[in-house]
Amino acid sequence: MNKIQRLNIRTDKRNQLIDITEKVRAEVKGSGISDGKVEIFVPHTTAAVTINENYDPTVQADILGFLANLVPPNAGYQHTEGNSDAHIKSSLVGTSATVFIADGDLVFGTWQGIYFCEFDGPRNRQVLVKFHPD
Ligand code: ZN
Repeated sequence: MNKIQRLNIRTDKRNQLIDITEKVRAEVKGSGISDGKVEIFVPHTTAAVTINENYDPTVQADILGFLANLVPPNAGYQHTEGNSDAHIKSSLVGTSATVFIADGDLVFGTWQGIYFCEFDGPRNRQVLVKFHPD
């Protein structure tokens, strides 16, 4: 019953934040779990997951713009695949997040949502979701 769930995500830009809150919420509802927590894990080396504002889209644009300035695409990297910026961004942002579940739903602050962070798209991606019931 409590197996790892795999969500498929299709990205269409090299750098992109995709709101996956409703996909994760649907898994929570489908799980039948009332209380506990859900762990979200990105099994990729050039992508990440973060929780941030899902109301004003300029926040997502600012996050991507800041990361682009912080980690430029070409900065004398040694990795010959040409995507070292994406690897570095993945490590900076991180590949897992945990959200509490109460009364069968995700527990968030007012403006929070879960974002899949693409740094080397477009690609077909996966997000792993695992429940930890109380
Ligand atoms: Zn690489």
